[in-house]
Amino acid sequence: MMCYTDWMTLVEKDDGRADELWVLTDEDLWLVGKTLKVRFLDDRIPAWPNDGRGHITEEEILKIANEWHQCGVEQGKDVVPEFVPCGADDTADIRVKFIVDSGCPRSKVGTAATRVKAGDPTMWLDLKSPDNCPSLYKRTIRHEFGHALDLKHEHQHPDAPPLTDPRKLKEYLTQRLPPAEIDEKIRVQWAALARGASQKSKYDKESVMHYLIPEVVRANKYVGPTELPIELSDCDKTNIVLFYSKGAADEEQTPMGTMLALFLMNYSETS
Ligand SMILES: [Zn+2]
Repeated sequence: MMCYTDWMTLVEKDDGRADELWVLTDEDLWLVGKTLKVRFLDDRIPAWPNDGRGHITEEEILKIANEWHQCGVEQGKDVVPEFVPCGADDTADIRVKFIVDSGCPRSKVGTAATRVKAGDPTMWLDLKSPDNCPSLYKRTIRHEFGHALDLKHEHQHPDAPPLTDPRKLKEYLTQRLPPAEIDEKIRVQWAALARGASQKSKYDKESVMHYLIPEVVRANKYVGPTELPIELSDCDKTNIVLFYSKGAADEEQTPMGTMLALFLMNYSETS
């Protein structure tokens, strides 16, 4: 079964290009165990034309998003922020807007959301699912709320094996984007992240933060996922708790500003 990826969505949609770049530009960790208020900016959740599920509720969305939080609870370390609804509060930490016509799912990464003008969206969700991938909406929620928790793309892990053929990737993008955007697209969404001293995990091809790489751009000895990762992987579950547990240890030992500076300097794990 071939599901489309959020990357495919990104490169095939015409609008929102400037916003795509924000996915990986600001990197900040929330305070450990913080409760993150979530506001849904639309009056009601759209019924996407092909979702076949009727309306999903805000409660259901947050339940899926909080699978990240539950990882900590289940591992006896309640350190991963929890997403809670907050009604029409413009100062909500995460403000969700639904995509109806065009655009791509995207989110501010970590506390970059705090630098968005009050009332403006920090996350866009498109929760329709094609027939060949009825669970895609769940993957989208897990992936975008993963970004909201400061997780990066797993395919940009510094230890990831070669996943794409650079020539094929460039050719693929050339067919879909203006020339001026191609190098930036590769840098922001494809290039390996810098290795950091605090990197904690091995590359995990099953991570929900991994794209499904289109076959036409794959490297010769491609060993990445051949199905779109829908669920949190075992490594995702372990790493989100390690990630925020490390934040807890640093908060105890280091003044906050210094801790954040050190963490951001060192952190390069993508999920
Ligand atoms: Zn992403």
